[in-house]
Amino acid sequence: VLTVQDVGKSFRGQSTPVLQKISFNLAPGEILGLLGPSGCGKTTLLRIIAGFEPPTSGTVHLEGDCVSGEHGLTPPEKRQTGMVFQDYALFPHLTIADNIAFGLRHKSQKLNRQQIQGRIGEVLHLVGLTGLEKRYPHELSGGQQQRIALARALAPKPNLILLDEPLSNLDVQVRQRLRHEIRHILKATGTAAIFVTHDQEEAMAISDRIGVMYRGNLEQIGSPEEIYRSPASRFVAEFVTQAN
Ligand code: ATP
Repeated sequence: VLTVQDVGKSFRGQSTPVLQKISFNLAPGEILGLLGPSGCGKTTLLRIIAGFEPPTSGTVHLEGDCVSGEHGLTPPEKRQTGMVFQDYALFPHLTIADNIAFGLRHKSQKLNRQQIQGRIGEVLHLVGLTGLEKRYPHELSGGQQQRIALARALAPKPNLILLDEPLSNLDVQVRQRLRHEIRHILKATGTAAIFVTHDQEEAMAISDRIGVMYRGNLEQIGSPEEIYRSPASRFVAEFVTQAN
């Protein structure tokens, strides 16, 4: 679903690039955990894939189409990529149903009212929150709000979802429960995902493959076992043993 080829990024006025020649691809339904210390470029990479930021060099292909590259940039809303952020980003003045319907706005020309209601019911069921349509975000717990954010991202049936530390504001028990639920939901819907986290345990629990980033480089990408058994660099070896 996704091919990232030699993507580099420099911000104006900064001597060192934030990303250097990042390449990897993602198979349909595959979940990639992106790990790395603060400032290594994880969020910047997600923003480039989502289309919020142009790369300085390299290309991004989604479903075989070039969406970032020398021919320009496909805007985020045309990429059919869902996003979930750390701070829920639900609209406080909209009901849960309207928040999810917002995720469908680019499809809304094709969906009638009844189909939109149906889709809202389906995704609420998927995240285990059936019946909350008329509530407002502030009436829900942090964990419930993140599930709604996931439901909103899933509503248009994207092939790829980008999750930027979606659980980091939640308490430990909720985090642990939600990481398994998120994996289950992504697998049940066959949605590919990139899951950015600082937490190795979380990355292991959720991901099929893990990418370790350091100073703008993708140091290694592989199964959790490969990363632990044969770290490709000293940084990876030290990084993955730190938490044990
Ligand atoms: P964290 O885990 O703390 O969120 P990260 O790995 O996601 O970190 P990024 O947010 O991608 O890292 O930032 C990488 C580097 O790029 C940082 O040094 C940051 O200061 C710089 N950076 C990010 N966005 C911009 C911008 N718009 N302009 C200039 N510098 C930026």
